[in-house]
Amino acid sequence: MGYRKRVMILGCTGSIGTTAMQSLDSLRSSFDIVAISAHKNHAKLLYYAQSFNVPNVCLSGGSFEIEQTDGRCFYYGSSGLLDMIRNVECDVVLNAISGSAGLEPTFEILSHHTTLALANKESIVMGGDLFTQTVKKYGVTVYPVDSEHSTIDSLIKAHGDSHVDSVILTASGGPFRTFTPRQMAHITIEQALNHPTWNMGAKITIDSATLANKGLEVIEASYLFGKNVGSIDVVIHPQSVVHSFIRMKNGALYAQMSPPDMALPIMNALNGGHIELKDIVSPLDLSDLTLRFEKFDKNQFPLLDMAFHCLKSRKGYPIAFNGANETAVLAFLKKKISFISISAIVQEVLQHSWSEQITSIEDIYSVHRRANTMAQQLVERYRIE
Ligand code: NDP
Ligand code: MG
Repeated sequence: MGYRKRVMILGCTGSIGTTAMQSLDSLRSSFDIVAISAHKNHAKLLYYAQSFNVPNVCLSGGSFEIEQTDGRCFYYGSSGLLDMIRNVECDVVLNAISGSAGLEPTFEILSHHTTLALANKESIVMGGDLFTQTVKKYGVTVYPVDSEHSTIDSLIKAHGDSHVDSVILTASGGPFRTFTPRQMAHITIEQALNHPTWNMGAKITIDSATLANKGLEVIEASYLFGKNVGSIDVVIHPQSVVHSFIRMKNGALYAQMSPPDMALPIMNALNGGHIELKDIVSPLDLSDLTLRFEKFDKNQFPLLDMAFHCLKSRKGYPIAFNGANETAVLAFLKKKISFISISAIVQEVLQHSWSEQITSIEDIYSVHRRANTMAQQLVERYRIE
């Protein structure tokens, strides 16, 4: 057997993590999974540990109740997760943790590893300039796993960054694209969790329904590709077949098209930017394809508009946007607030000043905590019962 690429997968029990594990199952002669983590789901974590014979295993939100006599190295808690990142040697780390909990692991990966496959967009949004400086400082190669950014990354590499004028992110528009304001006021959790084209974790599914996800992606694109707010646009594309565009300085427009399947950007990232598309999805049948593109409605999806404003203001604004949104989404998932209160809460939080300079991870957490606390107080005010 030749050299097998050593992979660490953080968040292996989630939607992205599971797709990664399933994709790697048939590639055991090329990839060796050397470390995995989950937060609470110890049963699935142990199942993966045993079936892939993974030597390093971390449960970041608890401890195992079993005898650990099977020769594996077990790590516990959030400090255990950071220890595992530091201790285990590998060729690429996939960070597929959800939400702001992914921030510290991302920075730990950047200072100890050479290649990061990054699904956790929140850590780019929160990390901002500090993220890009740290990537540069340690010379890390970052492969975005978000499908739009994976596409844009490949297109920019293919056509040359210096010729690119702007990037255009596609958005499915979520399940409520055609809803009237009256219908928007009565959206249930079940409706919001039913995304028309992608099957994802709960937080990102709600973010996709409010278009906060696209807002986070606009900020993510800015930091990943060094584009300012005027060089990033969003277009609604309900079929999720075109995974974003780049517009060249000479006016040409390039896109990448394929059926929506997260295995594509995940394997592209784990495999150093190379992928045999035909091994993962069947070729698009162009004879049976209708594609639509529409402008997004600022009034219907205020969170996307807020994200553009936060990106313009930079400093603590993107962190506050992310933190307030995370708190509000959690409250919606717990049935404490209505769907439309998510954007109302984030808007109120953003009316405060977030102009502090961010120069350390502590600064990021301080803004994040302040935004969480404010949003939490607003949750009480917007509470349904
Ligand atoms: P899921 O909610 O499905 O999975 C989250 C994973 O992170 C699980 O393994 C979970 O463990 C773990 N986790 C949860 N909380 C913590 C914590 N506090 N500390 C450490 N680990 C934790 O999320 P997704 O897979 O949908 O999304 C993961 C990331 O990828 C997000 O940032 C999302 O925005 C991004 N992304 C996702 C896409 C998708 O298609 N799903 C598409 C593009 C980007 P456990 O199961 O034990 O709780
Ligand atoms: Mg995306």
